[in-house]
Amino acid sequence: MVSVITASDRQAFKRCRRAWDLGSPLRQGWERADDRVPVDLGAAVRAALAVWYFPGMWEWDRAIVRPLAFEAYRRVAAGWPAGADEVAALGERLLGRYVEWAPAVDRFTPVRVETDFQVAIPDPADPVRDLAGADGSALHFAGRIELLVVDAFDAYWLATHRLQDRWADLDELVLDEGGATACWAWERSFLGMDIAGVIYNELRTDADLDRELPTAATPGPESVVPVGHRRMYVRSDRSTVPEITREGNEVFRRTWVSRSLVELERARRHLGAEARDMTSADLAIYPAPAWDICSVCEFRPPCIALNTGVDAEAVLAKSYRPRPPVPEQEGRLGGVTWSIGRGAAPPTFGRRPTTDR
Ligand code: SF4
Repeated sequence: MVSVITASDRQAFKRCRRAWDLGSPLRQGWERADDRVPVDLGAAVRAALAVWYFPGMWEWDRAIVRPLAFEAYRRVAAGWPAGADEVAALGERLLGRYVEWAPAVDRFTPVRVETDFQVAIPDPADPVRDLAGADGSALHFAGRIELLVVDAFDAYWLATHRLQDRWADLDELVLDEGGATACWAWERSFLGMDIAGVIYNELRTDADLDRELPTAATPGPESVVPVGHRRMYVRSDRSTVPEITREGNEVFRRTWVSRSLVELERARRHLGAEARDMTSADLAIYPAPAWDICSVCEFRPPCIALNTGVDAEAVLAKSYRPRPPVPEQEGRLGGVTWSIGRGAAPPTFGRRPTTDR
């Protein structure tokens, strides 16, 4: 038997154990009995960008790809409830400005979009062995990367699109454990491939989209070297990776944050330690109230019931239902579902030295 821990499960565990316990498929697995489709602008824009960066169309004229990307956006927005027209229009305008801006700074070649991974979690105390839960089940970590690209130096980067009404602090990106863990997991899933780091592609949802934006700086001679391939395994010929580079304007910002082997090893250890905690037989469950998370928590009513001694089971039975198994997501263009059982034999070229892979 295999217990699968996802990146979002992990985040929920860190945020509030009570909410995680109520909602995680590993625990009680409740969800709100509500079939309304949430208005998720980020999901709609990501669907469009998965088409924009589809590897098989990367050499196509962008004027041909643009309507296809908008079509993908509209397919998601069409499922939103009535009254979301303003958000849908905002997303279209944001996307329109993005596809004007991006070609000047897309100095890479996409290799994969929207691709799943699933890897066994090593025991943090003995990384040669894989971790097992208290019930003996194998523990796996699963996730989905939004975009994998190769740059002009033959270095691979994971990229993630962030839609927010603020810029992320630089330290917030450097501390992004989810990004470091995804780099580690991807390398483990595709043995033989080194990931240089994460590209954070930020889109501001509160920006003035009517104002004229400065054109992107003319790329330097190194950055315009054509990549010219989409192979999954090539060795980078550059000697160093810049730690952090950033470019953008008032609406879009792109930050390249390299991830060292030390960081990836730490991410692996933290994942193992958390997975062990999450599956421990004597895990303590308690609430962690903080209004920024409680204000958007779907389990506020049963949480308040538990705190005040009201019958929480009745609250759950009335307004919640057991979470169904996660449906298989329709494969996206350029996406591949890849499990640990289907790994291609890696080429044996010089990997960075590790002791426990
Ligand atoms: S309301 Fe707050 S404390 Fe209660 S479960 Fe939700 S996040 Fe946790």
